[in-house]
Amino acid sequence: MAEQLIVGAGLAGLVAAITLARKGYDVRVLDKYKTVGAQPERWPMVDVTPMIPRAMSSYLDIPVGEPQVKPCKQLNGYFWGNPFHVPIERSNLCVVERGPRKTGLDGYLLEVALAEGVKVEFEEGVFGQGAIAKLPADTIIATGLYADVFDALEIPYVMGWCYGAKGRGDREAEAAIYFGDYTNDYAYWSNINGIESVLFFTRNPIKDSDLETFTRELESTEGVRVDEWLYGYGPTPTAKFSNPRLFASDKILAGTISGMMEPFALFGVHGALVSGKIAAMAVEDRAAGLREFRQQLTTWKRMLLNRKVYNKMPVAMRRMAVVTLNNILGSTGDVGARMLAGAFHAVPGYMRQKKGQT
Ligand SMILES: Cc1cc2nc3c(=O)[nH]c(=O)nc-3n(C[C@H](O)[C@H](O)[C@H](O)COP(=O)(O)OP(=O)(O)OC[C@H]3O[C@@H](n4cnc5c(N)ncnc54)[C@H](O)[C@@H]3O)c2cc1C
Repeated sequence: MAEQLIVGAGLAGLVAAITLARKGYDVRVLDKYKTVGAQPERWPMVDVTPMIPRAMSSYLDIPVGEPQVKPCKQLNGYFWGNPFHVPIERSNLCVVERGPRKTGLDGYLLEVALAEGVKVEFEEGVFGQGAIAKLPADTIIATGLYADVFDALEIPYVMGWCYGAKGRGDREAEAAIYFGDYTNDYAYWSNINGIESVLFFTRNPIKDSDLETFTRELESTEGVRVDEWLYGYGPTPTAKFSNPRLFASDKILAGTISGMMEPFALFGVHGALVSGKIAAMAVEDRAAGLREFRQQLTTWKRMLLNRKVYNKMPVAMRRMAVVTLNNILGSTGDVGARMLAGAFHAVPGYMRQKKGQT
C-alpha cells in the first residue's frame, strides 16, 4: 500500500486523509496539538459560512450536515448602529461548530478518518523550512492559519487580528454581524449546539476603547455579555493576487495555506473542505488537481481587488458603501436576497461543486 503523509489534522487535512484512505493509501496525519480543531484556546467555537451541505456531501463523498452544520435561521445586521434584518433566506448561510466535540466538524471528520483506517498522530508538529523540505514529495501540507508554515514555505500573507469570546447560549443557529468605526473589518456573534462565539476581526491592532464600544453595542443589541476577550492573530493568504497555489516545490498544499479562503470576509471553512479533496486528487494526478483547483477559485482575484479597494476607502465612504448596499438589499425584498446569495459565489468552491465532479 502506498504511504501518504499529511501535515495538519484540520478540515482540509482530514478530508484529504479520508479520500486517500478510501483509495487504498496508508495515510498518516501529523498534528502539533493534542487533538483536532486548531486553536485549542477557542474550543468549542462557532463559524459561519455559505454552504449547501447536500452539495458538499456529494462532492466530498462524506456526509456533511447536522449537528455539525446547520442552516442559519436568522442574521441580524448592525451597520454603524442601524439594525437590519439581513435577507439570508436564499443564501445558504450555515452555522458550523468547530472543535473536537463529536458535534464539531473537526471532531466528526476525525471520527470518519479513524474509521477509514487513517493514523493520526498528535503532538507531532513539523516546524521549520528544513523539516518541511525533508518530508517526502507529495506530502500534503494543510496547516491552516499559522504564520510559521507560511514563512517556511515563503508564501506571502497579511496578518489579521482577532478578539474572540465564547460562552453558552440557548439560542440556536442564529447570528449577528456588526460593522462600525471600531474596526476596519467586521465582527460577528453566532451560536449552535448550546455554545456561542463572538469574533471581532480587524486588519490593524486596535485601541481598547474601540473594543469596549463594540462590547457595549453587542450587549445592547443581542443581549450578549462578554467579560473576557481572547486576543489572537493569524496570517491570511490575501497578500498578493498570486497567493492561491496548489503546490510549493514538491509538496501539495490544502486549506487556507493554499489560498482557499474567500479574500473579502475571510470565509475559510468551505474552501478548506473542498481543497482537501483537490489535494487528494493531486496526489494521483497533479494536472487534474490543478485544473480543479483553478476552477474552484474563479472569483478569487476579483474579490481580493474589492477588498483592496475597500481597505483604501476613507471610513466615511466605507460606511456609506455598506449602509447603501444594505439598504438596497433590504428594500428590494426577494431581489435583495438573491443579490446576497450571488455575493457568496466568491467563496472558494461554493456553487461550483457539481462542475468539479465531472
Ligand atoms: C478566530 C477565527 C475565526 C474564523 N471564523 C470563520 C468563519 O466564521 N467562517 C469561515 O468560513 N472561516 C472562518 N475562519 C477561517 C477557518 O477557520 C479556516 O480557514 C479553516 O479552519 C481552515 O481550515 P484548514 O484545514 O486550512 O486549517 P485548520 O482547520 O486550522 O487546521 C490546521 C491544522 O494544522 C495543524 N498545524 C498547524 N501547524 C502545524 C505544524 N507546524 N505541524 C503540524 N500540525 C500543524 C493545526 O493544529 C490544525 O489542526 C476563522 C478562523 C479563525 C482563526
